[in-house]
Order: sequence, then C-alpha cells, then structure tokens
Amino acid sequence: MRGTVRSLLAAVVGAVLLMLTVTTYVLGVTQPRVQDYTAITRELRVSHEAMLDQETGLRAWLATGDRRFLQPYESGRDAAAGAQARLRGHLHADDELASRLVDLALAQQSWQQQWAKPALQRPVGAPVADTARFLVQGKESFDVYRRVSADAVAVSAAGRDAAMRVQQRALQGLALSQVILGALAVAVLLRRTRRLVELLEAPVQLVEGAIARIHRGEVLGDLPASGAGELDDVVAALVQLSQDLDRERATSQAQQADVRRSREQLEAVLAAGRAMAACTSSAALAGLVVRSSAELTGGLGSLWVRTEQGPHGCVAWSDPLQACTDEHAEVVAAAATDGRRREGPDHVALPLIGSGQVLAVLHVAFPDALADGAGTPAGCTALETLTVSAAAHWEAVQLHEATRERAAKDQLTGLGNRHTMQEEMSVEWARSTRHGRPLSLGMIDLDHFKKINDTGGHLAGDAWLKLVAEVVGAQLRSSDRVYRYGGEEIAVMLPETAEDDAAVLFERIRAAIEGVRGPDAAPSATASIGVAELRPGMLEPEDLIGSADRALYAAKRAGRNLVVRAGVLEPGRQDPQPTGAGAERVGAERVADGAEGR
Ligand code: GH3
Ligand code: MG
Ligand code: MG
Repeated sequence: MRGTVRSLLAAVVGAVLLMLTVTTYVLGVTQPRVQDYTAITRELRVSHEAMLDQETGLRAWLATGDRRFLQPYESGRDAAAGAQARLRGHLHADDELASRLVDLALAQQSWQQQWAKPALQRPVGAPVADTARFLVQGKESFDVYRRVSADAVAVSAAGRDAAMRVQQRALQGLALSQVILGALAVAVLLRRTRRLVELLEAPVQLVEGAIARIHRGEVLGDLPASGAGELDDVVAALVQLSQDLDRERATSQAQQADVRRSREQLEAVLAAGRAMAACTSSAALAGLVVRSSAELTGGLGSLWVRTEQGPHGCVAWSDPLQACTDEHAEVVAAAATDGRRREGPDHVALPLIGSGQVLAVLHVAFPDALADGAGTPAGCTALETLTVSAAAHWEAVQLHEATRERAAKDQLTGLGNRHTMQEEMSVEWARSTRHGRPLSLGMIDLDHFKKINDTGGHLAGDAWLKLVAEVVGAQLRSSDRVYRYGGEEIAVMLPETAEDDAAVLFERIRAAIEGVRGPDAAPSATASIGVAELRPGMLEPEDLIGSADRALYAAKRAGRNLVVRAGVLEPGRQDPQPTGAGAERVGAERVADGAEGR
C-alpha cells in the first residue's frame, strides 16, 4: 500500500517536471527567432531614421549653405553605419531577409556614393537650376533606397510575425498537451484512488469487523489475509488480543464461579447450621447432616454412630441403597479410631468431635468421581465446616435428649412417668376424638404391696416393681404405651383398641403378673386392673383416667387380682363382669361404694 502511494506521487512529480522541460524547450527553440526578427526590425527602423536625418541635413545644406545642417547628416551617417554593422550579425536569420538586407546596404551605399558625397562637394552659391536638378536626382536615388528599405522592413516584420505565430502555436500546443496530460494524470489519479480504496476497503472492513467482534466478546479464529501487509499485522494482533481476552475472561469466570460456589456452600452450611440449631432429636439432626452433606458435594452422605456393641453403625443416609456399605464402615472405623479425616478419590470420612471424643463420623461417597477421574469433588472443605457445626449441635441434642428422657421416664422402672402420660394421652385423645377411633386405658395396682415392702424391704419392693414393669411391657404392642402412674400403679394406654379387646389383653397381663415368682419361688404379687374406653360424654383425658380408676376400685373391692371393665359399671348397665381369679366372688359380692380402698 505504501508502495502504491509512493509510485502515485512519483508519477505526479514526473508529469510536472516533463511539462516544465517541454515548456523550456519550446521557449528555447522559438524565442531566439522571435528576438532576431524583433532586433532586425528595430535596427531597420534605426537605420531608416538615420537615412532620413542624412537626407534632411544634406538638403538643408544644399538649400542654405549653412554647415550646421551637415551635423544631422553626419550623426545619421554614423547611426546608419552602426545599424548596418548590427544588421550584418543577423544575416543568418532568414535567406530572403538576408537578401533584402544586402539590397538595402547596396541601396544605402548607392545613395551615399551617387548623391550624398557629391552633395557635400558642391560649391556654395551654385546656380539654383543646377541645385534643383541635383535635388531631384537625390530624391530619385533616395526613393530607390526607400523602396528597398520598405521591402526589407516588410520582410523582417513578416518574419517576426511568422516566428511569433510559430512560438504561439507551440505554446498553445504545449498548453493543450498540458491540459491533456493533466486530464490523464487526474484520470490515472482517480483510477489509482479507486483502486486504492478498493485495496483498502476490504482490509479496513476486516479490521473494523474484528474490532466489533471483540467488542461483542467473540473469540477470533484465523482471519483471511487482507492483502495489505500493515493491516494484516493489525488483524493478527487483534486475533491475538481476542484470544488473550478470552483466556483472561475464562480465568476470571472460573474464579468468579469458585467464589460463587464457595459463597453458596458457605450459605448452605450456615443454613444447615440454623436448621441444626432447631433440631431437638439426634435422628432429625443426623438426617439433616447427611442431606446437607449430599447437597454440598453431590455425593452420598451417611452418618455413623458407635453402637452399644462397639463398632460404628449407620444411623442416617441420603441414599439407603448405596450409603452404608461394609467398605464405608472400614473407612469410618479408621476415622473414628484416631479422630482424623480419611479421604480417597471417591470418598471422605469426617469425624464429629466434641468434648475430646468422636461423637459420630460423617461419610460421603462420590460414586462418579472415579469414573470421571476428577479427584475429590469440590465441597469437601465446606464439609469440614459442616462437621464442626454438626458436632456442636450433636452434643447439644444428645444432652437435650438425655435430659428429656430423664424428665420423661421413671428412673426405677424405665417406664414413662406421669407427665409423659399426660402429654401422650392428650395427643392420642385428640386423634381418637377427631377421627372417632377407639382408645382404652388400663390402671394396674399391685395388691397388698405394702406387705412386700414390709417383709422383703423396699429394695425387694423396687425389684418387684421393675419385674412387673417388664412383664407388662412384654405383653404390649409397639403402639401401646405404658407409664408408672404412681407408687405401685401402672397405666397402660391402648390406641385403636376398644374396651372388650383391652379387657382380654389386661387379663393376660394380670395372669402374667400373677405368674411372676420371687426368689423363694412362691407367688408373691397379684394385681387389680380397671379397664375403661373413651366414651361419648367424656370431655378430657382425665375423664378416661377417672373411669379406669373407678373400675380399679371396683376390682379391689371385689376381692383383688381381678380385671374390671368400666363399661359394666355405667349406670343402667348390667352388674360388673370381672375376669380373673376373683370372678366368682365379684359375682357373689355387690360392688359397694366406699368399699376398701387401694
Ligand atoms: P392394696 O393396693 O391391695 O389395697 O394394698 P397395698 O398395700 O398395695 O396398698 P397401697 O396401694 O395403699 O400401698 C402402696 C404401697 O406401695 C405403699 C408403698 O409402701 C408402696 N410403694 C409405693 N411406691 C413404692 C416404691 O417405689 N418402692 C417400693 N418398694 N414400694 C413402694
Ligand atoms: Mg396396691
Ligand atoms: Mg396403690
């Protein structure tokens, strides 16, 4: 491109120089001729004026005899001689003109010889007639000269005009050629400019397009060569720039993604921490921890806790089919042994440490990690934070559960205490009344328990109580609830059970208690049991308790070691139909109000 501009400039300068050279040449060739003819014409005029001065002076001398008139003659003669000498220098100009000039010189010489010189020698005072004749001769001779001079002047003027015309035509031709050359130069210039534009347009558009694409954030591949070396360099630089920018952008995006991921994980850990703080049971907390670990890493989480037998057992998992394998158990045991994190390409085991001991172990498996060879997945760092938080919450929940259990259970028998009974009965009461489902309650009171204490001591009495509690519990379903209601009184709540069915169960319990043997292998304890069911008209759980209690009283009054249903005590109903060892006696003795208490 730079070469094109240089050659264009050289062409313009060359054209101008050529014009100047041709113009100089034309003027150099034609101007001397014009000057020659101009000088000849001027000298002819000078010569003629000199001749006129001579002739006029001589005539005045002849007429007056005054020698002062000879002075113009003499100066004219000298001027004519000078002009003649200068004219001789121009004889080469033109053959015809040279001939005229020779004629002129001869004519002047002839006039000089034949008339001028004789005129000077004529005596003063010659007869007028002779003088007149002499003057006429002079006039004739001068007329000859005058004609020759006029011819010479005419030829010289014609030559000068011709030379000037030639010069004029040459200059006109030159001007015309200059115009043509100029037009050609303009045409060439325009053509070159158009070609230059064509040459530049595509490369410039290429560069503009590349810049616009970079602006839009595109990455440029190899672009076609533009044909203009300098612009190709620019395009190559732009391609490189776009690729550098793309690399920088990718790096920046990866860093942003890392920061975003870390922030999201931190937020997830914080959210999990908040949720953990709301957990009041270890089961709920364990479930939350494994779910959070799975969400954080995309792996399979499981939480392991030391079992009573020793090794850690899986208590919660995000996927029951894959999360608790023997392989995992090994890694968990290793982490639990020294309280250190264990990790491999497809798993990580993190102990939850609190109060200087391993409380549990969180295991996260990454089944896909081995397949894609990506190594330990991201999110494991966040897992550390999660386990630290989980450990603190785990300790708190365990403490909470222990406290709650202590508060909810009777310490001697391990049964639910009265407070627990009230709470759970409220729940069952509400459920049964809402859905119209049966609910029964049995009140068990050991017969003459005082005697056991009195004979065996209170520790023996306590042992009996524990034994009876186990016997009762062994007869129940998991949905049934058993509580220590008072001293040696046990309450049993039977959801979804009507009084008739409950009476059958309690008869079995009564018989089981009756069958309990103490150390001396003698029958040592019996129990009286009152059974009641939720009936229309009962407004609150205490109504059901009161109804069962009244049945229990009836059993005591009827002779003990009996099961009495509250239903048979209702006004307008038949006499009570107790079951058990004292059944016959109940049938014989009427149940009396204010009879023997418990
Ligand atoms: P009955 O019910 O048949 O009328 O006679 P009873 O001897 O059982 O009479 P009562 O129900 O009035 O007495 C309950 C006794 O149970 C009183 C108390 O000495 C004893 N007892 C209550 N709680 C405990 C306990 O936790 N341990 C022991 N060893 N004895 C208890
Ligand atoms: Mg008793
Ligand atoms: Mg009692």
